[in-house]
Amino acid sequence: MKHSPAYEYYRNVIQAIRTILIGMRISLKYCFSKTVTLQYPDVGPALQPRYRGFHFFEIEKCITCDACAKACPVDCIYIEKSGPRKIDKESGVALGGAVIRYAIDYSKCMFCALCIPPCPTDCIHMGKVHDMSGYTREDMIVEFTELASEGLQTPQPLWMQKRELPEWVNRSKEEWLEFEYSDDKMTGDNAKRRAAMVTALTETEIPKKKKPALKKDA
Ligand code: SF4
Ligand code: SF4
Repeated sequence: MKHSPAYEYYRNVIQAIRTILIGMRISLKYCFSKTVTLQYPDVGPALQPRYRGFHFFEIEKCITCDACAKACPVDCIYIEKSGPRKIDKESGVALGGAVIRYAIDYSKCMFCALCIPPCPTDCIHMGKVHDMSGYTREDMIVEFTELASEGLQTPQPLWMQKRELPEWVNRSKEEWLEFEYSDDKMTGDNAKRRAAMVTALTETEIPKKKKPALKKDA
């Protein structure tokens, strides 16, 4: 049925108002709700389980395949290696060439997490560190190989290195230093993991495949 132009006009106006109100529903709800001030940094932020913060990187499992770097839409992952690396099934760590450099430029990173799913060894993850600052662009490049030599998987903001820290920060630091995010064959053996992290920075021999024993003729 054909309606008059006036009817169409008012119907469009009403539809536009309705659509705006639907879109603004959450904003309007917060406009009239009580303001909550979080006493950060004394009180930590409430991060959701799928929060995407600065990465944590398990270098000991990285086979330097470049899959993460290729998936990155802004080319901010830099990888250098001295040779191919391969996971040793017995120990669960990667052996072979040295990881010379694994760095992420956080002045470009969009925290999109597209680098995570392609990783064949599940060694790069989005972490929980949410604040990091620097005075230059270079300060925003995190050298994960240097962190690994210090037994760290994720960068620590400078202010978190102070002596007196709120309890929630101490807890976060403990999680990183105890490798609580790493769930693999080395779980609970932190000395072994630290040794494997340092080993990843040097060249090692890839264990040769054992040949199956030949069956003797009966
Ligand atoms: S989170 Fe996104 S932008 Fe950042 S390194 Fe990964 S793929 Fe690149
Ligand atoms: S995809 Fe995983 S294994 Fe490959 S280079 Fe990136 S972090 Fe290392």
